Amino acid sequence: MSPHTLSFFRRMVCLCLAPLAAAAQPAAPKRLFGIVIHGGAGNVTPERVAGIGEKAYRAALEQALTAGYSVLERGGSSLDAVQAAIVVLEENPLFNAGLGATLTRDGTHELDSAIMDGRTLAAGSVAGLQHVKSPIGLARLVMEKTPHVMLIGAGAEAFAQAQGLAPVANSSFTTPANRAAYENSRAKARPRTEPLTPKDTVGAVALDQNGNLASGTSTGGMLNKLPGRVGDAPLIGIGTYADNRTCAVSCTGWGEFFIRTVVAYDISAQMAYQGTALAKAAQASLDKAERLGGDGGLIALDAQGNFTMPFNTKGMFRGFRFSNGATAVKLFAPE
Ligand code: ASP
Repeated sequence: MSPHTLSFFRRMVCLCLAPLAAAAQPAAPKRLFGIVIHGGAGNVTPERVAGIGEKAYRAALEQALTAGYSVLERGGSSLDAVQAAIVVLEENPLFNAGLGATLTRDGTHELDSAIMDGRTLAAGSVAGLQHVKSPIGLARLVMEKTPHVMLIGAGAEAFAQAQGLAPVANSSFTTPANRAAYENSRAKARPRTEPLTPKDTVGAVALDQNGNLASGTSTGGMLNKLPGRVGDAPLIGIGTYADNRTCAVSCTGWGEFFIRTVVAYDISAQMAYQGTALAKAAQASLDKAERLGGDGGLIALDAQGNFTMPFNTKGMFRGFRFSNGATAVKLFAPE
């Protein structure tokens, strides 16, 4: 056999065995991906949810998890997953975002939202919206279609229309339940210092198959708020933050205290500058807000897929779903 023929046969053998060798290799571990959501911290007790029924809340959270997780499963971005999950919650009247948003002192709705990309630190946010069906969608457009981070009020509404979003009536966010909560709160004489109860804001944080983090939050704010009041949710670094190098965070709670303690960025900064682990950093930042008098909770996720969902209220609507099969939906404190 000529040396040429020999080398031809050797190459053929190698080519034929290569797939077998590859098949024998253990499959490279897939990167963990997943999503964590919340539907607000506050007076989440069996008594409070009894009227609507626990099942309805759990089903709504499952539906949001499914919407977000299926984006990730298809290889979609964490930004798309966060937005998909939040849209489901905005459209569900059980939560204080979009349909079902709480009312201001004047009986109107003013919606706030933000979204952030942990890969680029790009962010978009909107506040004081009265006629935009999906505030998280508009926040995303602010991020992607303008040189700005935040648009508010009339300017934000004009931008929404320029982007082709048909305005909706402010009353389209009203439900019998949020109207009743409003009437009830108006009936009581309230001292200025009386604690407001955070309620049912929604948020999501996600980690995609490319290792990118994103976060988003959407809310009607606090019941009976003064018109023009902006809470923590749409403020980047406070109610919403994402940085691939540290974590993605979405907060819920009495926004004024979260603003004063810069909660979301505080968690990220502890991780970046002190190497603090995610759960410890999140608890420390929440404790800081609590020491001032703020109640609430948050969800936080890092690029390794570690996550935490601390709260200092009676409960928090929350859930998670990951590619390793870990998944749950929870409402109350001991659960
Ligand atoms: N954080 C929201 C706000 O202050 C309220 C909430 O989370 O329920 O606007």
